[in-house]
Amino acid sequence: MNVYNSLTRRIEELKPLADNTIRLYTCGPTVYNFAHIGNFRAYAFEDVLRRVIQFNGMKVKQVMNLTDVDDKTIRGANAAGVALTDYTKTYKDAFFADLGKLNIQPAEVYPAATDHIPEMIALVEKLMEKGVAYQSEDGSVYFKVREFPGYGKLAHIDFDSQRTGLRCAADEYDKENVGDFALWKAWEPSDGPVGWDSPWGRGRPGWHIECSAMSMKYLGPTFDLHTGGIDNLFPHHENEIAQAEAATGKEFVRTWMHCAHLRVNGEKMSKSAGNFFTLRDLIDKGWLGREIRYVLVNAHYRTGLNFAFDALEDARKSLERIDRCVETATEGEAPEWASAHLAAFADAVNDDLNLPKAFAALFALVRDTNAHGGGPVLSVFRRMDEVLGVIFFGKSAKAEVPADVQAMLDARAEARSQKNWAESDRIRDALAEMGWLVKDSKAGQTVSRK
Ligand code: AMP
Ligand code: ZN
Repeated sequence: MNVYNSLTRRIEELKPLADNTIRLYTCGPTVYNFAHIGNFRAYAFEDVLRRVIQFNGMKVKQVMNLTDVDDKTIRGANAAGVALTDYTKTYKDAFFADLGKLNIQPAEVYPAATDHIPEMIALVEKLMEKGVAYQSEDGSVYFKVREFPGYGKLAHIDFDSQRTGLRCAADEYDKENVGDFALWKAWEPSDGPVGWDSPWGRGRPGWHIECSAMSMKYLGPTFDLHTGGIDNLFPHHENEIAQAEAATGKEFVRTWMHCAHLRVNGEKMSKSAGNFFTLRDLIDKGWLGREIRYVLVNAHYRTGLNFAFDALEDARKSLERIDRCVETATEGEAPEWASAHLAAFADAVNDDLNLPKAFAALFALVRDTNAHGGGPVLSVFRRMDEVLGVIFFGKSAKAEVPADVQAMLDARAEARSQKNWAESDRIRDALAEMGWLVKDSKAGQTVSRK
């Protein structure tokens, strides 16, 4: 599996540092509002990434933070006159509901910033001990960018040559250098009841320290992979590296990946530009989560994607075409022509997640299956859908059934492929006893609660 590493600016093989497990940190939402589909482009890209890792037989441990304290959440809570935790809970819940609607696999850990203030304070203390942080007159604590020699290595900016200019411009700031960024922000009256006690007085953590502290807590000081939208690359990810590496003296992250923006009429979709759709907006207009997912994943993640309703129309038609074909597909050993399409599919996803090429392989399979009037190609559709998540969307019982029931269903599918009808019926009856109703169709077995 090869991916483009933003740090080295090269295509490299993604290999686990340990335990056949890719440890992955993905910057998550600021829970002050409903996420827009631009944000979901980033989360859908990360979902495809984790699915391709698993497709290749590796395991994933993914951590996605929830930013539940910052300027926007505090402003929102204080304006609404509710406690910060009550305010953010609404949007946390909405976020998880939206992920489900897009068939995005859940991360292994969703740490919330407000549950990790002690870890962040400990990290800032470490940076103070090492002499790379200072408290300014306003009480806030800043990271001293010029004390970290590697600063700029992710963004590929040589800050050394720009230093003098920065220092002159910094005169009017509390900071020693304009590039210095806040690790801890001193309490201000507009923060209202929000604040935590720290060695530097009452205040709250900066945004960047949140991700360094929580990623290292759950994934260790050095881990495999860190991702986000391209707007996160600088300064957010650059600052994460500076904080982590200055504190531990170790390499922070081996591979960095960033997705390009979802745009509207050529402009980045964003809350501040006002040119955004939330997932709810589109669902209210009658679009399905499955169709929206199709549009988000059917583009190369490093290419800008322009959002248009035509694309949703096309997705609807393409999915209908896939559905009609899948209905004619049967269980059994896949013929060679289908395996060839699967091999092309695997090559495409392993070539830096080339999803347009992967979809081309899927449509070649559809075309050939139609030409054969069907055939034993269900296993190939299923294997492709492990990555795409759009073919059996909402139909696959796999996600909702417990492991023991799934094991029985697998055994039953095996018995049926060997035409062992007695065994097939025995397992169906045993599942019925357990409260599960199994139905058979050409597309395989489906299961539901009785
Ligand atoms: P935010 O809530 O703004 O911190 O964004 C959460 C995630 O969505 C980050 O990984 C951002 O880089 C990403 N993001 C924000 N806007 C877009 C967009 N228009 N297209 C793609 N990703 C985006
Ligand atoms: Zn982050």
